[in-house]
Amino acid sequence: MIAWIEENGLRIGTFPALDALAPALSVWFTTRGGGVSRPPFDSLNLGSHVGDSRTDVLENRRRLKKTLGIGANRVARGGQVHGTEIAFVKRGGTLEGTDGFMTVSRGLALAINSADCFPLMIHSPSEMVLAAIHVGRSGAAAGIIGKTFDLLYERYRIDPDNTVAVCGPGICPRCYEVGRDAAMAFPAYARMRRVKGWHLDLPRFIRTETERAGLKPANFFDSGLCTACESDLFSYRRDGDRTGRNWTLAMMIRR
Ligand SMILES: [Zn+2]
Repeated sequence: MIAWIEENGLRIGTFPALDALAPALSVWFTTRGGGVSRPPFDSLNLGSHVGDSRTDVLENRRRLKKTLGIGANRVARGGQVHGTEIAFVKRGGTLEGTDGFMTVSRGLALAINSADCFPLMIHSPSEMVLAAIHVGRSGAAAGIIGKTFDLLYERYRIDPDNTVAVCGPGICPRCYEVGRDAAMAFPAYARMRRVKGWHLDLPRFIRTETERAGLKPANFFDSGLCTACESDLFSYRRDGDRTGRNWTLAMMIRR
């Protein structure tokens, strides 16, 4: 289900099955190779608030945009805070305190920065609107997925029958051990695996929330990759405080 672009030393995941349903949509997710950052940020770290050299991060972003053919100022992203704030954007840049973006602009990439949290992209091919949200445990519990669909229905009148959702890499339930309080925020998705450990199935929660919002199960695309299981992805849980960030990007291409 994943195809890989290997170019300029970068290895970028894509979703070829999207083409039939959403021909204008491209979704890409990065892996660690092909950048210039030194350990522990080696090497394609795209996060600028993790302690890495700013020059290296900017060079990594430049390489990524060049490889994907995205213009220099054509990436919109957020200073993500695990909240539910969603911004409508027409141009590139960083919006502080924002975990979600919507756009109708073609050729504008929406990027979600993550290292275990899930990036979720939602696109209506008939209304030509795109949303990108950062879904961690807090944002998920606070309802960012339902809020995004509500906005898409109200503001853009999207048709749930043709809307697609794409979920990038994030932490799998086996790797995601949480405390009891966190588990109890998602009672249907938490499981006690060992004597003390609660494990949370965030990917299943995300899939179910999209279906609750009206998405057809066949229109949900999942990378199936875990950031902590795959050594080729940055993982906060696996590597601790000092690690890099992956990007998942979505863009409606120009005709
Ligand atoms: Zn895992």
